[in-house]
Amino acid sequence: MLKLAIQKKGRLSASSLELLELCGIHFEHNGQEKLKTLAQNFPLEIYFLRDDDIPRYLEDGVADIGILGENLALESAADILKVLPLGFGKCRMSIAVPKHTPYKAARDIQGKRIATSYPGLLKKFLSENNISAQIHELSGSVEITPGIDMADAIFDLVSTGSTLISNGLKEVETVLHSEAMLYRNRNLNAEKLSLLEKLCFRMQAVKRAKDHKYILLNVPNEKLAEVCSILPGMKSPTIMPLSEEGWSSVHSVIKEDKFWEIIQQLKDAGAESLLITNIEKMVL
Ligand code: ATP
Ligand code: MG
Repeated sequence: MLKLAIQKKGRLSASSLELLELCGIHFEHNGQEKLKTLAQNFPLEIYFLRDDDIPRYLEDGVADIGILGENLALESAADILKVLPLGFGKCRMSIAVPKHTPYKAARDIQGKRIATSYPGLLKKFLSENNISAQIHELSGSVEITPGIDMADAIFDLVSTGSTLISNGLKEVETVLHSEAMLYRNRNLNAEKLSLLEKLCFRMQAVKRAKDHKYILLNVPNEKLAEVCSILPGMKSPTIMPLSEEGWSSVHSVIKEDKFWEIIQQLKDAGAESLLITNIEKMVL
């Protein structure tokens, strides 16, 4: 049985649960109450924990695998292994200062007071840049500290930046990009590694499917070559003749992040009746 730790309540909880569901793993979970549960159709026990505790649980082998933000894993400095990036919980760790404070380079925070909940990552950044500054460690709400003269700058997690703006701050230095990641204990036995491989296979299929769209379109044959050159597909696009003479139907898979760009190029190249659908699973 593989023991998986996920966040009980927070930014990563819903996406972690959804990922397991999409992997076809069913289990009972009644919101806040349960601290652990058994999957019904996969040899997996799921622990619901505070995210701060997951690195230690993984290091100590209390849990075998766990989902947590890369930022937190790095901050904890736990001796655990990365298994798979999961594509959600994307954020960055940045330094921000009050919006009217002049700032050109990292050395401008020399000697300043910096509030953060991530002292480990901040110390690393400061020493890499040969800067000394006072670190004020807080467990949360660091963004209010410059406004109440407790700090001159903050080092915190940013996703859209709207929290910074609403607290009169500007982001001046991005130190780290982070996303949710599957981690594992260093010393899993062969049986557990084989279960983990099965789980990863499913997670990758789900993740790939989310990153791609299936596209169908019609095109006059004389424009087929140009349209196909825009569509890389998994190998190459599928082409089928339409019953209308001189026309073909093209099927392919495109990446979600290039989606609108490609659609525009296809239209411009003469594609018509484009149909785009989600993919549920994608195995290469
Ligand atoms: P816990 O109660 O479990 O200790 P927490 O309050 O410490 O939770 P959350 O705010 O739920 O933590 O964030 C968990 C992780 O989600 C962060 O470490 C980060 O990796 C990611 N994260 C946080 N905020 C965002 C955001 N706005 N957008 C995307 N990802 C985020
Ligand atoms: Mg936490």
